[in-house]
Amino acid sequence: MHTHIIPKNLPKWATEFGYGNFIHLEHNDNGTADMMQGGQFFRRIEENCWGEEMRIKEYEQFYTQVQVVCTIPVLFAYWAKPDHGLKVSQFLNDHIAELSARYPKNYLGLATLPMQDTKLAIQELERAKNSGHLGIQIGSNINGKNLNEEELFPIFEACADLGMAVMVHPWEMMGENDMKKYWLPWLVGMPAETSRAACSMIFGGILERLPNLRVCFSHAGGSFLPTLGRIEHGFNCRPDLVAIDNKRNPREYLGKFWIDSITHDIDMLEYVLKMQGSKRVCLGSDYPFPLGDLEIGKFIEDSDLSQSVKEDIFANATLEWLEIEAGRFT
Ligand SMILES: [Zn+2]
Repeated sequence: MHTHIIPKNLPKWATEFGYGNFIHLEHNDNGTADMMQGGQFFRRIEENCWGEEMRIKEYEQFYTQVQVVCTIPVLFAYWAKPDHGLKVSQFLNDHIAELSARYPKNYLGLATLPMQDTKLAIQELERAKNSGHLGIQIGSNINGKNLNEEELFPIFEACADLGMAVMVHPWEMMGENDMKKYWLPWLVGMPAETSRAACSMIFGGILERLPNLRVCFSHAGGSFLPTLGRIEHGFNCRPDLVAIDNKRNPREYLGKFWIDSITHDIDMLEYVLKMQGSKRVCLGSDYPFPLGDLEIGKFIEDSDLSQSVKEDIFANATLEWLEIEAGRFT
């Protein structure tokens, strides 16, 4: 339920709009492509980033038929002017909608929204729903604003009303500029970002006010679950700081949201399963990127977990998160 995809060709938005670090692709003779951010090299990617048939074949090697696809967070463009953010979102969402319509048994789509403008975000959410998307992917903060900001609430409310699932993905990592060495934004910043998002949604009362909102936090919830003891203790010892917008203990939300299984560690997976229950832990891969679980679910398959727990992770948790039936894939 957590894979990234990009159209084979992107417009040169930086040229078209006349500013900004929008991403475009420059294809190389050896079949790879360079993601260019403004004029700067960002990342080299391979055909499995856009090649729809190749992706299905690579997944088949791990007995996995269906991929939930969403864009790559560097394409969010929340910093862009709202109209331009909308245009980028529409382009990316149309690509995924078209793909999932062509391969309904292999691809399911999560849309991206111009979160910098609540009205446009809801407008695009409705359009995405009508074109077959089952939910959205959003960043862990929106231009530095936490997910409990009042201006974002109508978007979550609309997601709950429309039955659109929400995947929260870390991006624009805190402290990024202070720790560029050793890939620390990815190794330290990302788990912290996801916990920041989960704490913001819980303490800000988003999950309390919208019990039907189906939220999934990436990378097994980042550092949220491993540090929940500390978070709960903080809630209890300094309610004047923590419990100001929501009086409910954060531990009571366990099992009310979803997480993916990307832990790379069976002990950690068992720990989060104990906290969340197997119905709330979805098979995620982060395919096709190197930090992902690229032998999709193999460490789970090879583990001593029971068959029913494995089936929950491999299918049932995601079906429930997206509110769909297994029958559509057979
Ligand atoms: Zn990811």
